[in-house]
Amino acid sequence: MGNFDLLNVKGVSRRDFIKLVAATTAALGLPELIVPKAASALEQALKKPPVIWLEGMDCTGCTESAISTLNPSPAELILDMLSIRYHETIMAASGHTSEEAYQATLKENFVLVVEGSCPSKEDRFCMVGGRPFRKILIEAAQKAQVIIAIGSCASEGAGIPGACATGAVGVAELLRNEGINKPVINLPCCPVKPTTLIGTILYYLTYQKAPALDSQNRPIAYYGSLLHDNCPRRGHFENGNYLTDWNDPIQKEYCLILKGCKGPKTYTDCAQVWWNDNANFCINAGSPCSGCSEKDFYNGFSPLYAKQEIFKLPGIGHVDADTVGFVVGGAAAIGLGAHLIATAASGRLGNKDHKEDM
Ligand code: SF4
Repeated sequence: MGNFDLLNVKGVSRRDFIKLVAATTAALGLPELIVPKAASALEQALKKPPVIWLEGMDCTGCTESAISTLNPSPAELILDMLSIRYHETIMAASGHTSEEAYQATLKENFVLVVEGSCPSKEDRFCMVGGRPFRKILIEAAQKAQVIIAIGSCASEGAGIPGACATGAVGVAELLRNEGINKPVINLPCCPVKPTTLIGTILYYLTYQKAPALDSQNRPIAYYGSLLHDNCPRRGHFENGNYLTDWNDPIQKEYCLILKGCKGPKTYTDCAQVWWNDNANFCINAGSPCSGCSEKDFYNGFSPLYAKQEIFKLPGIGHVDADTVGFVVGGAAAIGLGAHLIATAASGRLGNKDHKEDM
């Protein structure tokens, strides 16, 4: 089947295909000029590269996120275009047949996608096909052309498995511990967003290198801004309207910082690009951000719904949860500018007299 025969089967015209590529490259902040190149790279991707998608200690949430999309969505299209040769959850083959597919793909120039964290200490659990996942991951990572860790678990060993006594680590840490010097692109969030995965793969196929990454090896295009800076509840934050009672309808849209929101310390594009084909995201659904794109998730950020004792606010500095409403709301009410708020707040909030002055 030819490249665009495949798209035709999906009911997608070449025009739609180019529009899809343009939208994806725009999301990455790439210039329009690159669209033909990206489209061409993607057409080549129809011939492949093959993908091995390994799952360690996970809930398959990232797989669900990637495949639970409207039909035919950009996510589905591109995931279909990639030749996912081995994926324990969605592949039709099982047993020896799936093992043969895995072994055959190892001999090719494949992309390795890893979902789930890895037990670092013992090879007693997380076995796949009778072999420890840890050994499978090392084997595949050594041969892969690029390694992409998706979701919080694979990225940093964070997430629920990492919160228990499993010795869970992320892919990069495991490889480092094994003395394997290969870069890993981290795409955290619980689960990963299809747009993030697709955009990263598209960039790699186009340029044959990783996009610009931050200090946690996350693409800056997706993890370069604070959720707090783009949050739809930011106006309430500035006005000092903080939700304290879940049952009070007046507070329904208020800022969730006193309910444990980690938005002020979480770098993600969640407010701009929502899950499930832009259906929704945590804060819009009424839940505080749990900081799942950060390496401190889950242990460092729990309990998720409890207010944080001390946190940092942009332009203000470190404050504690009991005084945040006072500082921001009070300062706004008397018309203080952001700089003056910062000056007033930083280092002085423990001072009861100063609070009374304000
Ligand atoms: Fe939004 Fe959370 Fe920031 Fe409030 S604290 S504005 S809910 S990100």
